[in-house]
Amino acid sequence: MKIARRCVCCLSENLSGSQAVLAPFVAYRVFGWEPAEITADWGLRDIRPGHAYAACATLECADCGALFLDMRFDDEEMAALYAGYRDERYCAARERFEPGYAERNARFAEGSPYMPEIEAFLASHVPAAPRVLDFGGDTGLNTPFRGSAAVHHVHDISGLETVAGAVSVSLAQAGAETYDLIVSSQVLEHVSDPRAMLADIAALARPETKIYLEVPHEDVVRLHGSERPIGPRKRLWHEHVNFFTPESLDAMLAAAGLSRVARQSIPVVAGGREVRVMCVLATRVA
Ligand SMILES: [Zn+2]
Repeated sequence: MKIARRCVCCLSENLSGSQAVLAPFVAYRVFGWEPAEITADWGLRDIRPGHAYAACATLECADCGALFLDMRFDDEEMAALYAGYRDERYCAARERFEPGYAERNARFAEGSPYMPEIEAFLASHVPAAPRVLDFGGDTGLNTPFRGSAAVHHVHDISGLETVAGAVSVSLAQAGAETYDLIVSSQVLEHVSDPRAMLADIAALARPETKIYLEVPHEDVVRLHGSERPIGPRKRLWHEHVNFFTPESLDAMLAAAGLSRVARQSIPVVAGGREVRVMCVLATRVA
């Protein structure tokens, strides 16, 4: 694990930090750390009794507005966090730290309720039966045009079995294909180096390929972005380690040699909760 010294979106060093804690479930999955209750019988001289959680920092970029966790997990730590994502063992472990999680998770298994809106956003930009790669697409359950796509490939680290009709591919296999649409939906907010991931995606795109990116448009940056610093509003970090602004996404697109074609921020219901998502469509810069 590394500590970010630059903005993960625009590389600016114009960052400010606030104290925060890492969610106990994430600390446990990634590092095997458990919250500790320090009592007088520990017999410590300079440490006061109380609860000890994994301390971290909320960093915010003064240039692009991105808000992110200072800890940047390496590949091994990411694999530990996401292996068997949302499967039975994962849910049981998470239930221990977050009572009620298993019940909430059951809603994810039903698939995205707002897919018709996303497909409507994309429809005029891709052929009727597009060749689609879902980058970080989990099982492929929430790939746009699932069922009507001529090709439905999924590239993911979870190791989960894909849904019927979807084919799991390696990066090398994806590189040998031509796609009309490469989707990365609800992924960039999870990864340690979103710029590198976007560069990987851009490298798979042909001139005619459309790239669809979808990330949460988090309330803390959407509603309070003008009230800097906003770090003190974000005290607990979970699996979403990057909170993006439109400007931070534009900075990443430019760095990856991509150009934005369309963008929208829409209200949706996800996991039974009303949230907003930011949708961006891009292509390679000619
Ligand atoms: Zn930045």
